[in-house]
Amino acid sequence: MLLDILSKSKDATAVYDSADLHIRFVNQSMLALWGKNFSVKGKTIEDALPELHDQPFFDILKKIWQTGETYSATNTPASLMIDGELKTSFFDFEYRAILNEEGQTYAILHTSADVTQRVEAFKQVQEKQEHEELLHLKMTVANKNLSTANRELQTYNDSISRLNILLQESETDFKRLVQQAPVAILVFRGADMVIDIANHAMLEILNKDTSIIGKPLLQGLPEIEGATAVDMLFEVFNTGKALDGNEAPVPMMRDGVLETRYFNFSYRPLRDETGVVGVMDIAVDVTEQVLARKNLEDIIAEKTELAKTLRSSETRLQGILDTMAEGVGIIDANGQMVYANPMAQRILGLSEDEIKKRTYGDARWQNLRLDGSPLPDEEHPMAIMMRTGLASYDQEIAVQPPVGERMYISINSAPIFDERGTLTGGIGTFMDVTNRRKMMIQKDDFISVASHELKTPVTALKAALQLLERMKKDVNPNKFEKLLSQANKSLNKLSDLINSLLNSNRISQGRFPIHKTKFSIAELINECCQHVRTVGEHDIIFTGDLNLQITADEQLLDQVIVNLVNNAVKYAPKSREIKISVEELPNQVKVSVTDSGPGIPADKVKHIFERYYQADSDNRQFSGLGLGLYISAEIIHKHGGEIGVDSEPGNGSTFWFTLPLGE
Ligand code: ADP
Repeated sequence: MLLDILSKSKDATAVYDSADLHIRFVNQSMLALWGKNFSVKGKTIEDALPELHDQPFFDILKKIWQTGETYSATNTPASLMIDGELKTSFFDFEYRAILNEEGQTYAILHTSADVTQRVEAFKQVQEKQEHEELLHLKMTVANKNLSTANRELQTYNDSISRLNILLQESETDFKRLVQQAPVAILVFRGADMVIDIANHAMLEILNKDTSIIGKPLLQGLPEIEGATAVDMLFEVFNTGKALDGNEAPVPMMRDGVLETRYFNFSYRPLRDETGVVGVMDIAVDVTEQVLARKNLEDIIAEKTELAKTLRSSETRLQGILDTMAEGVGIIDANGQMVYANPMAQRILGLSEDEIKKRTYGDARWQNLRLDGSPLPDEEHPMAIMMRTGLASYDQEIAVQPPVGERMYISINSAPIFDERGTLTGGIGTFMDVTNRRKMMIQKDDFISVASHELKTPVTALKAALQLLERMKKDVNPNKFEKLLSQANKSLNKLSDLINSLLNSNRISQGRFPIHKTKFSIAELINECCQHVRTVGEHDIIFTGDLNLQITADEQLLDQVIVNLVNNAVKYAPKSREIKISVEELPNQVKVSVTDSGPGIPADKVKHIFERYYQADSDNRQFSGLGLGLYISAEIIHKHGGEIGVDSEPGNGSTFWFTLPLGE
């Protein structure tokens, strides 16, 4: 700006800006006075104008530079080399030192005017008066310009120093700001990451004091070496790229113990005109949050694992309950059934829905004592358990369902207590023991039947023997023989009964071997019927192939046929004819014994081959142990055959069996 003004000035002007008087600026007018061109610009005045060497100007200028004074002179001669000739002219000139704030010279403003003509015309002063005044005026204007320029320079200098102050102030402000910041801030400088600033919050996080300031990071905090967060810090310094970290683990020494702490941080590079000079780290300690969350995650994981285990053990338990041979029922504190496993549903013949609706004392299901009398609710094993809080085992009761046969169940009951010891319900396991109970009843019945059956021949035998005893001296041959035959008959009956019992025992234990031979079935049947023919009350009518040979255990088969024929005689006494037929079917032979007796009701037919079963057990009209058909069935089955009965009440019965023909 200033130089611009000067360049436009018509006055010869030059500016020197060093103690060596380098020409900083020279305008065209000055060059004309000097007889030089612009190449002098940048040279020292001594180099530019060597011809002035012996003249006083250089010394005056140097002095002015030193003293900061202004020097002016008028009508001063100076010899300058112009167009190759040393020419002396007269000048009015001024050397004005320009000072900086400190009062030191930083430039000299040189203005000059060629007054040769004035001097020459001095004598003609009057004539030249106007010209001189004009010249003077110009000088004043130039001086005015100069002082304006000086003022501007001064303003410029002031601005620079003000800026410097501001810069210093802002750095102090920055440090103060950082110190008081609520977030933790670290400022590193240099490639070694020397800790330049660490504010209170940061020192607290690091658990360090101000002694770490001025130390390289890894010297101040050696324990953090190797942490990813540290590597990232160096990366920011090296690349100049900002990086952020989230929940980064950093090993830290706290009260002598190394522990992992977690930080969210942002690293920002700090630059000056030379590039990255440091890194600013703003960090937040999130250890507590991370640990709390981890703890929560651990708890959740543990709970999930627990739930999984629980689910699998529940599934396992469910599997056990589903496949258990025992019924399991759970009742609540009111006796209401809340759970029944599939077997319980099967035993009780009820769906899950129905079971849940009923209590152990459901009126539709009549609970009975074993003797058949009604079982009061309070005597139910579950009720006793709920009342006493004590478990009980194998308590048998009878249950009469609304429809169907009476059943017997054995109940184990146990109380369920909550953690405070309050009775909240009970669990009952029960088994259908109807068969067990029936078997026991049958056994009891059988014992009384067997005792009775055995007692009859024994009584007869005893009577015959007593009579014989009395007859010892007075022997009546007729009576004697009759008594003897009666005694023998009773003994045979006894022996038959005992045999049946023994056979039944052997059969039930699976101990009866079969010895097969080949024989004529017609012949065997004939022999078996001999005793019936002898008695003569029934006609035996045989149909079938007389020559048919079968392979079987002849003795066992004899037992089967005798039993069937004897039963026909016993249970159909009025049936004159007893038909026996032998049919040859593909690969097997079927033997049938048909009477025209009373027949057997359908509901009894299905039990007729069971052990101890007697169709007329209620009136006990016929003697017997209920073992004959059971033994026969076992023998036939052991031969690989089948046994059955076709009967209709009032139309007689046909008992039949088949045998494989074999080789
Ligand atoms: P037991 O004759 O010793 O009682 P069984 O096992 O031979 O035993 O017979 C079982 C039951 O079958 C008999 O009690 C009888 O009621 C019935 N029964 C057997 N055969 C006949 C038949 N031919 N007609 C009618 N009922 C019969």
